[in-house]
Amino acid sequence: MIWNGNKESMSREDMRALQGRRLAKIVSYVYHNVPFYRSKMQEMDVSPEDIRSIDDIVKLPFTTKQDLRDNYPFGLQAAPASEVVRIHASSGTTGKPTIVGYTRKDLEVWSECMSRCLASYGVTREDVFSVAYGYGLFTGGLGVHYGVENLGASVVPTSTGNTEKHIRLIKDLGITGIACTPSYALHLAETMEKMGIDKSELKLRVGAFGAEPWTENMRKEIESRLGLKAFNLYGLSEIMGPCVSYECECQNHSHVNEDHFFPEIIDPETLASLPYGDTGELVFTTLTKTGMPLLRYRTRDLCSLVDEPCACGRTNVRMTRILGRSDDMLIIRGINVFPSQVESVLLSISECAPYYRIIVDRVNNLDTLTVQVEVRQEFFSQGFDTLSPITALEKKVAAALKSVLSISPIVQVKQPGSLGRVDGKTKVVTDLRVLK
Ligand code: ADP
Ligand code: ZN
Repeated sequence: MIWNGNKESMSREDMRALQGRRLAKIVSYVYHNVPFYRSKMQEMDVSPEDIRSIDDIVKLPFTTKQDLRDNYPFGLQAAPASEVVRIHASSGTTGKPTIVGYTRKDLEVWSECMSRCLASYGVTREDVFSVAYGYGLFTGGLGVHYGVENLGASVVPTSTGNTEKHIRLIKDLGITGIACTPSYALHLAETMEKMGIDKSELKLRVGAFGAEPWTENMRKEIESRLGLKAFNLYGLSEIMGPCVSYECECQNHSHVNEDHFFPEIIDPETLASLPYGDTGELVFTTLTKTGMPLLRYRTRDLCSLVDEPCACGRTNVRMTRILGRSDDMLIIRGINVFPSQVESVLLSISECAPYYRIIVDRVNNLDTLTVQVEVRQEFFSQGFDTLSPITALEKKVAAALKSVLSISPIVQVKQPGSLGRVDGKTKVVTDLRVLK
């Protein structure tokens, strides 16, 4: 079902005209309320009057995650603190977390956009919907929660963890819909099978999966093991949270809520705008946000945009699946991990040599992170050929990594020289998760 026919199936011309009007308004708003944007625009010699249509967006400055960090915590906020009614934060694994303040109006837009996603998946007021994204600072839980309520289905705020209890609730309450990460969906399936519960005993029929990359094969696996139809849900906290784009019944790319979030594709090296169909870095401008509006925010996600008509009747542009990131960031159990963070932790420990490998895998449908590191020769000769000092060092490294990354790695301390050396670039990261 189309939740908002007005906005999801406008003519392309009307949509572009609406986007142009909204862009002009938001640019004027940030120019007058956010010193960061005012000075950036002044440097580029652009004033709000120069923005007359959506095509003028290319005149505007980009915003990066680093800009958000540099202006931590509230430097990019446009609304006064008295207007902010909720604050979320990204995981913050790369240093300072990104803080996003929402006004009441922003929360209304979020719920509206999330309801569009759910309606597109076929969720109705009759559904009982479990939200198994984390509730808390992460936008997944509360974001989907209010979308379900706004649509009028019953929400069960299960959050993550306690998988067996969750499965019993799915069975006992006749839960029909679920939102979680695709890897958690497979974990649920596996736990269900271990508990001896067959999918035919459940009423699950629809799933909204996102927050991490997944593939068609993963979709088939989830659909067959949970007995539901699995849809993609994309979003990021800087722009809003889950609700930025969503699949329809055609399950062929994700429609962008582009009356609120204007998408562009750029070449991440040259920053030039790329046409529809070309793969590059996805960039969003928030057209209506009042708490922390962002101009041309670089998501670092790689994909392309499709503007051909969709059989579902929606006219809003679609984005393809995320192919990867324009930087080297890994997403492990939904948490961002940069190889450079691992390196800096290892190098802060005197016993560790600067030779290491990062292996990411998926075991029993949960991501694992293995870090192999060589011990320095001088410590090795002091008895590292016996087992216990190695175990003690592995524990120490694991604890140090956990405190920085917020996930527990498996640490394997290796003999000096054992990880091999190459001329030129070493392939530090091996990602064994098969995402095809
Ligand atoms: P962060 O991880 O930076 O703290 P978020 O939790 O908001 O912030 O995560 C947003 C990122 O998660 C996106 O930029 C994208 O890389 C990834 N992501 C979210 N949904 C999807 C999806 N459906 N498919 C692929 N990647 C996704
Ligand atoms: Zn469609």
